[in-house]
Amino acid sequence: MADDQLQETLSPAQLVELETFGTRRPIAVGDYLYRAGDTAYDFFVMLSGSVDIVVESGHEERVIVHHGPGRFLGELNLLTGLRVLVSARVVEAGEVLVIPVATLREIIAARPALSDLILSAFMARRSLLMTDAAAAIRVIGSRYSPESGRLREFLQRSRIPHEWVDPDTDGAVEGALCAGGIKADELPIVIVTGTVLRRPTPGELSEFLGLTLDPLDGHCFDLIVVGSGPAGLAAAVYGASEGLSTLGVESIALGGQAGSSSRIENYLGFPTGISGGDLAHRALVQAEKFGASFSTPCAAVSLRETSGHLAVKLSDGTEVVGRAVIAASGARYRRLPAVGIEEFEDSGVFYAATELEARACASAPVVVVGGGNSAGQAAMFLAQSGSPVTIVIRGADLGASMSRYLVDRIDSDPRIELRTQTTVTALSGSPGLEQVVLSGPDGDAKVPCQGLFSFIGADPSSGWISGCAALDGHGFVLTDRSLTEDQLDDAWTALGRAPLPFETSRPGLFAVGDVRAGSTKRVAAAVGEGSAAVRAVHEYLAFGT
Ligand SMILES: Cc1cc2nc3c(=O)[nH]c(=O)nc-3n(C[C@H](O)[C@H](O)[C@H](O)COP(=O)(O)OP(=O)(O)OC[C@H]3O[C@@H](n4cnc5c(N)ncnc54)[C@H](O)[C@@H]3O)c2cc1C
Repeated sequence: MADDQLQETLSPAQLVELETFGTRRPIAVGDYLYRAGDTAYDFFVMLSGSVDIVVESGHEERVIVHHGPGRFLGELNLLTGLRVLVSARVVEAGEVLVIPVATLREIIAARPALSDLILSAFMARRSLLMTDAAAAIRVIGSRYSPESGRLREFLQRSRIPHEWVDPDTDGAVEGALCAGGIKADELPIVIVTGTVLRRPTPGELSEFLGLTLDPLDGHCFDLIVVGSGPAGLAAAVYGASEGLSTLGVESIALGGQAGSSSRIENYLGFPTGISGGDLAHRALVQAEKFGASFSTPCAAVSLRETSGHLAVKLSDGTEVVGRAVIAASGARYRRLPAVGIEEFEDSGVFYAATELEARACASAPVVVVGGGNSAGQAAMFLAQSGSPVTIVIRGADLGASMSRYLVDRIDSDPRIELRTQTTVTALSGSPGLEQVVLSGPDGDAKVPCQGLFSFIGADPSSGWISGCAALDGHGFVLTDRSLTEDQLDDAWTALGRAPLPFETSRPGLFAVGDVRAGSTKRVAAAVGEGSAAVRAVHEYLAFGT
């Protein structure tokens, strides 16, 4: 880990400034300030002496960075609550300043210069831990196992360091599993700092890692945001930064559809593009900096009114209560009507094209279905990752639905073949996907395919509020001016006002982004709506109802 990348040495003036927030503590050689597996730790500032940050894998220990006087310890998990993955061992006696996490949050909120320094270092450290501390969490599971795919997707999209070991390709694993008494039907397993979790769901893994909420009996948030795609993350950033106690609830992993895009080129301020994962990660840090809390993966399953507030029931059976709720639950991908597709869901069939999926395909031939920009971006990315790509569209012309710049790039890329007026009708292979049948003007053709990438549109994720708020004929949520009088019940007459911008037919429930009827299905539009809706939430809360 290169020190200059971390840029986190505090100036003498900053050390004096921090001194008022903490207590001094002597440290001796061999002491651990925190250890891998701990559920929480304090923020430590090195006054004298030095500390090694070490990552443990099996019986091996590796030093990844050394901190001396003027440095501070810790990374993003001080804000997110993620279980500690590395240990801090004293190698030279001295003294540290100990600052509790709650106080660190106050410093980040109130001292911009310190906040910039600390947050930039935390983000740089997380990026480096993604490679340097990957061994702290090991997922052992087959590439053909849907459960293993879901665990890897959760960890990858949540930016949690981990490494994946595939027992089908790594001969040494079998012996190690036998020695550990782990049977084949107990896979996938996740080994986290020495603890073995057998066949955990992403929810169970998240709970073990400390990323789910503790029970919140009786607590009422000012704002609950359902969905953490671009719209929900923007709402969380604006809600928390404007003083609302804000909770974000996300069913899969942060970033939403945008999180599955390898390169977004039309988002303002990023002329060379930004990956959806990077954008979401930055937004998450921003929201957490302002004090927003998140629970993931955890789905909202229903909504009800309780004593003038809104209660959101979650998939783990608990309920969270808010004075206002923003629905930012976006849309979910449509499934291709092809024979045999169920067998390969989560292993050979993908609805995103990021590093994770590209690695799973390992430069083998892939098929991309769809004629929109998302399909075009995916085809370009997969071709660059080394896979021969076939794009399949039902129409006769790619230019009918894809931006010109992408069509031109695809046309001139020898690694990409386009098949028009064609559909995918069947999938086959054992144990993984090996080929698909393409039905086109010249009849059926079997083509080799280890990854089928489907980008054929999405349906709104509004099931959790159906019956509580008016939806249009396709299930998108109606808001403000698109609501007709007959969709507003007597409660509105009693309130004596019209719905606020982004407010649904249920007072206090707002909808933004792709789930909202009439929204522009783009990242920038979703971010704009999520941010702007918070102003309406303030107005709603000021009415007192
Ligand atoms: C591959 C791909 C590439 C794209 N590229 C671009 C691009 O380059 N430029 C561009 O402008 N747009 C692009 N888009 C479109 C853009 O990503 C979407 O318009 C945008 O993500 C919508 O944001 P959102 O927050 O409204 O919804 P989403 O991104 O759909 O996020 C909704 C979130 O809510 C969660 N959720 C759903 N139901 C629940 C529930 N019941 N409880 C809790 N959480 C729930 C979902 O898991 C998801 O994380 C792309 C889309 C895809 C799929």
